[in-house]
Amino acid sequence: RLHNLVQELKGNIRVFCRVRPLLAWEKERQTGLEHLHFPLQDNKALVLSKVEESALDGYHVCIFAYGQTGSGKTYTMEGPDDMSPETMGMIPRAVQQVFQGARELEPKGWQYHFTANFLEIYNESLRDLLVGRPERGAELEIKRVSQSSEELHVPNLRYMPVDSEDEVLKLLQTAKANRSVAKTALNDRSSRSHSLFQLRIEGWNRSRDLHSVSVLSLVDLAGSERLDKSFSKGERLRETQAINTSLSTLGLVIMALSNKEPHIPYRNSKLTYLLQNSLGGNSKMLMFVNISPLEENLSESLNSLRFASKVS
Ligand code: ADP
Ligand code: MG
Repeated sequence: RLHNLVQELKGNIRVFCRVRPLLAWEKERQTGLEHLHFPLQDNKALVLSKVEESALDGYHVCIFAYGQTGSGKTYTMEGPDDMSPETMGMIPRAVQQVFQGARELEPKGWQYHFTANFLEIYNESLRDLLVGRPERGAELEIKRVSQSSEELHVPNLRYMPVDSEDEVLKLLQTAKANRSVAKTALNDRSSRSHSLFQLRIEGWNRSRDLHSVSVLSLVDLAGSERLDKSFSKGERLRETQAINTSLSTLGLVIMALSNKEPHIPYRNSKLTYLLQNSLGGNSKMLMFVNISPLEENLSESLNSLRFASKVS
């Protein structure tokens, strides 16, 4: 049944544009695009079906939120703090759906084992969001699982076994708390870093001698705004360059995959390298291009739409 659903999906990538509504204080200040109706404005419209279930069927699934700072990426991925079933973001929604799907497949002989990890990529270096204070311990590096394997992992990163959606929600809270600590200390670097949540799903069907491994990856990308290089110096300049490189590499990787090019430049950024096995081949991709409704953000919105049209 799941297999049929997967085959119904045309192509391997879907791109949605999402315009957030005006915030209360913005309404007083100016008019924007609020007279238009956008079907994805409310998180309850983030209906998930085939994509996430694919993850139970041996397909890798990657979901991205792209857009300038303030356009609604984190809202799309995590939802608001006072989360309700209606306003739930993509991460809790997808995770819930995966666990629900797994329970439905149990009577058919499927058993699953889940592992979750959550990291941040800032200036091309990795930080574990499930670890309290940024420890000045071993650097997190991407390695092959073994010489003979194509599978990548990050030694020293926490891969937490999880048995239910509630356990994952607790991890999300931990990650959120760890990120907001860094926010005061380092002047909101969250908008200048990518955050990557992954759920690894390993399934067995012993009676039918089947085994599957898939990874569900959800990425809240760094803000795509063009920072003026001539005004940034030192740390800020390095950040700008790291963000530009990784976002443009992501676009190039997606385009190279859809053009079936022989060389895919995964290794040009940490993010695409980490996702190397989850992009292309046996995988499904969903991208939200988040847009601000404000007129003053028009040129950034256009840039985001250009990115969307390149990758879709
Ligand atoms: P980003 O992560 O892209 O910087 P945020 O997700 O933090 O942006 O969104 C910016 C502000 O807009 C936040 O206050 C957020 O709660 C609000 N917001 C974003 N999208 C929506 C939406 N679809 N509905 C209601 N409020 C939203
Ligand atoms: Mg954000």
